[in-house]
Amino acid sequence: MDYRGVRRVLFSYVLIHGIFITLQSKEEVLLDMKASGSELGWLTWPFEQADKQGWEVVQRTLNGSQFYSYSVCNVGEREQDNWLRTTFIQRRLSASRVLVELQFVVRDCNSFGGASLTCKETFNLYSSEADADVGTTFRKGQFKKVATIAPDEITRKNQLQINTETRVVDGLSRKGFYLAFQDIGACVAILSLRVYYKTCPATVKSLAVFPETVAGGENQALRKVDGVCMENAVSEEVPRIYCTVDGEWAVLVGQCQCREGYEEKDDVCQECQLGFFKASASSEMCEPCPANTQGLSSGDPVCPCMPGFYRAPDDPPTGPCSGLPSAPLDLLATTTQLSAGRLLLSWSPPYDTGGRDDLTYSVDCRRCEVTACQPCGEKVRYEPASTGLTDTRVSVSQLDAHLNYTFTVNTHNGVSQIASKVSTGALVPRATASLTTTLRYTDPPTVTSMRLDERRPTSLSLSWVVSPRHRAPPRTFRYELTYRKKDDNLNMTTYTVLILDRTSVLVSDLAPSTTYMFRVQPITEGGTGGSIMEDEFETLPDAQAPSNTTVIFGAAVGGAAMLFIVAVVLFVRKRRRNSHSRQGPEDAYFSSSEQLKPLKTYVDPHTYEDPNTAVLKFASEIHPNHISKQKVIGAGEFGEVYRGILKAPGRKEGPVAIKTLKPGYSEKQRQDFLSEASIMGQFSHQNIIRLEGVVTKFKHAMIVTEYMENGALDKYLRDHDGEMSSFQLVGMLRGIAGGMKYLSDMSYVHRDLAARNILVNTNLECKVSDFGLSRVLEDDPEGTYTTSGGKIPIRWTAPEAIAYRKFTSASDVWSFGIVMWEVMAFGERPYWDMSNHEVMKAINEAFRLPAPMDCPSAVYQLMLQCWLQDRSKRPRFPDIVSLLDKLLRSPDSLKTIADFDPRVSIRLPSTSGSDGSPFRSVSEWLESIKMSQYSENFTCAGLLTMEQVLQMKNEDIKNIGVRLPGHLKRIAYSILGLKDQTSTLSVFAI
Ligand code: AMP
Repeated sequence: MDYRGVRRVLFSYVLIHGIFITLQSKEEVLLDMKASGSELGWLTWPFEQADKQGWEVVQRTLNGSQFYSYSVCNVGEREQDNWLRTTFIQRRLSASRVLVELQFVVRDCNSFGGASLTCKETFNLYSSEADADVGTTFRKGQFKKVATIAPDEITRKNQLQINTETRVVDGLSRKGFYLAFQDIGACVAILSLRVYYKTCPATVKSLAVFPETVAGGENQALRKVDGVCMENAVSEEVPRIYCTVDGEWAVLVGQCQCREGYEEKDDVCQECQLGFFKASASSEMCEPCPANTQGLSSGDPVCPCMPGFYRAPDDPPTGPCSGLPSAPLDLLATTTQLSAGRLLLSWSPPYDTGGRDDLTYSVDCRRCEVTACQPCGEKVRYEPASTGLTDTRVSVSQLDAHLNYTFTVNTHNGVSQIASKVSTGALVPRATASLTTTLRYTDPPTVTSMRLDERRPTSLSLSWVVSPRHRAPPRTFRYELTYRKKDDNLNMTTYTVLILDRTSVLVSDLAPSTTYMFRVQPITEGGTGGSIMEDEFETLPDAQAPSNTTVIFGAAVGGAAMLFIVAVVLFVRKRRRNSHSRQGPEDAYFSSSEQLKPLKTYVDPHTYEDPNTAVLKFASEIHPNHISKQKVIGAGEFGEVYRGILKAPGRKEGPVAIKTLKPGYSEKQRQDFLSEASIMGQFSHQNIIRLEGVVTKFKHAMIVTEYMENGALDKYLRDHDGEMSSFQLVGMLRGIAGGMKYLSDMSYVHRDLAARNILVNTNLECKVSDFGLSRVLEDDPEGTYTTSGGKIPIRWTAPEAIAYRKFTSASDVWSFGIVMWEVMAFGERPYWDMSNHEVMKAINEAFRLPAPMDCPSAVYQLMLQCWLQDRSKRPRFPDIVSLLDKLLRSPDSLKTIADFDPRVSIRLPSTSGSDGSPFRSVSEWLESIKMSQYSENFTCAGLLTMEQVLQMKNEDIKNIGVRLPGHLKRIAYSILGLKDQTSTLSVFAI
């Protein structure tokens, strides 16, 4: 049996449920008479009879090719019943319905003249099912009639009319079947018989794959077929389609859609291109990444935010990302109700909301006394609130008068919180505006009473009370306490004057059984003022102790009662046990006398014969079991520096830095290593790194200091370039200057003051570190051997120290000027890549570093003062501290910005290139100004050449996504500098 049929594919289009699908049908041929090309071996019945002629095989030639046909033409005889049966036709697959296509010719009965009475013009088609080939067995009774076949066109005389009819045999269920033609007296020729069934061919529709399916029959006109989604496509319900009896696909139910990150192209799911995304399974195409996001790879389901941009929890993952807002503007404090300690803070919205409309503000308050600031605490009231403010004003009350308050207004938007979570450890640039203000009573305070608290033979303990409204801030006022012996001859009286910053005092070194006159008067800013309170108190008698007034010295002077002549200003000793106040040396504020020296002077540990004794004198011994090392945080000259925890009995557990000494050290190295602790242990100041203790009694010597979370200042600034205001930077410098003043007061010369040797903690407090002796200049990577043989960090060192090793506090002041420059330039290297030799030459020729970008003029002036050639003309650290304090007290003074010349202040490469253009690419230029992080912004904005960059206006820089004001300026200035490139060192000259 020949199953190799000719496939015919029919195309048609049907619109079903709005889905326009292509319908195709395929025919599978079971029997094809023409195609067999040989004698077919069909059975005729009745079997061979001599007298009767039934169906017979006839070989014909048509159009030059031969084929076999069956014909019968017994028209003149009655009761014809001639059968022609096909061979056994195997049914295939589940085809229950086959089509029978017949080509035949029927002769016109009229053409037979007298035979026309018995002649017929039709014949019958029968079928019979069987499970096996029955061979030549033929039983008429087993055949069922399928149809009577009549020609549409009858063949007359010479006009051959070929008819084609197709009939359906349905309901087939057994393994095969026979077809039979019954002739009942016609003149018929069967030219062709083709038996076939239809299938719906394997297909892909709406991204679902459906297998080839045999068309249904009368019992199942529509055959349901389940499909499978293609690779990277998904569907909620199983995709389903129906195969019609005609072999056509119809009624598609359920659809497959490309999953997230994929889109449909050319009937398959393809990955979204780089820079495009698709968040969910849908028939949509991939969309370009939204604003402030970036594509990381092809096939992105969402585009992650660009660095510095975030999505709030409620933001759709498909939406744009937004940035942090900039600082509020024009922060202003207005005193509204002095008596209630109330002031009104108001500000303007920031120029950049980060692209969001959920802006809120919070207010942070710190109260600052002379050296320290601390949070204002719960006493201060805010109306309507201190956080979540949507309005640009808040009323703050319950403030104390005469205290410096620093208010910081932060802007927040929906992504602020997420930004702080994302940047683990590192500081999120906070958009803040700060303002320091003081509520001032114009009238001086009133001392209302004076009291004797304790009486002894040689001392009296006194206290006094000020009017309640002035009482709250204990350090607001200072008091001048004057005393003298009551019975002194008024013409030869010794007055002692104490300047106190609290309302109690222990007056010692008095004579027993003696009455003293005391007078206390508040000191206002303009000098003494306010009410005077006077009283007299007598010391107790003391038989043993001789009268001793040695401490009180002075000179007598004649004149009226209240003219006193010698003031012995006694400083309350720092950390004196019985004192409530902590007074640092800079508190010698009212002293104008040069001869006043701090009580302590630094002792060079090398003056001790045995340096180990020095360590034990200045540092406390810690047992190594009380120290646990956690992580290496740096490398010191003698070994690793670790972060760890100190948990010693009687001490608060806390983080510490642990400097270690490498194994294999010599005794000399061990002593040098520990000498840093001997020096550090002598200091106690909030801007000097604090020594917690040492391990000397065990094999592995260690130095344990307080832990500074933000590490070295130079790196910290470089990592936060442009993120801090001048006010904050000057605040940091104030801290360093405070520490240096303390060191200079103790006659300690640091010799290696540089931003890399300043450490920063989480509160951004700066502390001077790196003390040592031989080490000072040996381990510093900047240390360079000079002609005199020692190592010196040239670009930080004063000329006289380089030339003839004259290291003094004045040379430390020079270094402090360089640190100021480093800080204001966010960690830029002083003198950039000039060689040490070039630096020394430039300094000798009176060139100085130019002002960093955005540097307040007053700050730059101070730097220039620090770099005066004549060291005696340089300011001293106390002057520097008070100047910086003054600037911080009136932040407006920081608003005047020093002249800035981008040609020298931003490092520009040599312009000697033959084409005149110093940069070959935008990215090279951005790298040179340390703004590489914006490379992609430039590329995305289509700014690909330096010519395009040079056309940019400030607005354009902002528009491509440069938000931080510091960065905006740096880029703008660099463009400006490039436009006018006549780089010269002459602007260094002072
Ligand atoms: P030094 O030997 O003092 O220069 O320390 C080497 C490095 O260790 C410094 O640059 C810091 O990064 C780190 N380091 C030293 N001391 C501390 C500290 N107290 N807190 C945090 N980091 C420190």
